[in-house]
Amino acid sequence: MIAVPSPLRLRLSSEALVANWRWLARQSGAAACGAALKADGYGLGARAVMRHLAAAGCRDFFVATWAEAAALMPLPAGVSLSVLHGVGEDDMVAARLLPARPVLNSVEQVQRWRDRGEGQPCDVMVDTGMNRLGLRVEEALGGALDGLAIETLHSHLASADEDSEQNGQQLAAFRALHERIPARRYSLANSAGVCLGDDYVFGLTRPGIALYGGIPRVEAAEHIRQVVFPEARVLQVRAVPAGETFGYGASWTAPRDSRIAVVNLGYADGYLRCHAGSGGATWEGQALPLVGRVSMDLTAFDASDVAGMREDEWLHLDYDLPDVSARCGLSQYELLTGLGSRFERIWN
Ligand SMILES: *Cc1c(COP(=O)(O)O)cnc(C)c1O
Repeated sequence: MIAVPSPLRLRLSSEALVANWRWLARQSGAAACGAALKADGYGLGARAVMRHLAAAGCRDFFVATWAEAAALMPLPAGVSLSVLHGVGEDDMVAARLLPARPVLNSVEQVQRWRDRGEGQPCDVMVDTGMNRLGLRVEEALGGALDGLAIETLHSHLASADEDSEQNGQQLAAFRALHERIPARRYSLANSAGVCLGDDYVFGLTRPGIALYGGIPRVEAAEHIRQVVFPEARVLQVRAVPAGETFGYGASWTAPRDSRIAVVNLGYADGYLRCHAGSGGATWEGQALPLVGRVSMDLTAFDASDVAGMREDEWLHLDYDLPDVSARCGLSQYELLTGLGSRFERIWN
């Protein structure tokens, strides 16, 4: 096999990832701080994220599906993995064979695990007001979980990124569950929930986005570092005379004799068309605004004011998550999880 270099890459900082986890772990106080690894580690690569965080001391990991769990095997020594979407009929073989626990989400799933889980450990999700996944509080308190050996009892906050009354309501509901349903541990907070303070952390926290550089609430802004740095190679630098246009729809007209750098990046890579108008990149510290539309695998940046820009140089895309999110309208989560497989992921 020949090694084929990719013209686009994600530079990933393991140092920033671990520093973000350590900050979240400090905010979690006496509670253990886990890590959500679903969607391939929010697009960074779940295996590598797990390896770096396990080496730093993280012990509790969460994925959405059994396919995601299988892709993480074999697990590093001493870590635990929970599968948030529970266990459907088709998941039973994987759930029995893999060293991971289902997070049981419904009375049906609890029954399935009682009947055929062979006494293996499980987590349980109780819904405290989001109405997405989880048993209803009445079901949980009404006997549906009696006698079940629960490793971790979870609930999930719907509005933790806002100063919403719903946070206090969900906290009160979870406290009632904490008093009445025995489990080895209790877990309520995602990244934003960790920022809500000590009341929300219980025995285990489940941050995701903040590990990867997202700012879930202002309280985190000074502490969370950027982890993901996308770069794209310049395929061509072309002179566009004043008055000529660029690209599909001829949506950009050169206001002066211009030089544009065309890079190997587009919406097929998760760099979506909404970046047009606000996107940008830098090269050797100089800013290059995006021009025209984003195509499937090509995007152009204005290099008119950048001396020395040539083919084969690498542009650093603007990817500060809260800033880019505010400018293009995608959420910080979408900005990460959309990054496609054509990016070579390079950790340092
Ligand atoms: C995704 C997820 C998390 C992590 O949420 P972030 O907002 O990324 O911190 C935690 N718990 C559950 C149940 C989730 O689905």
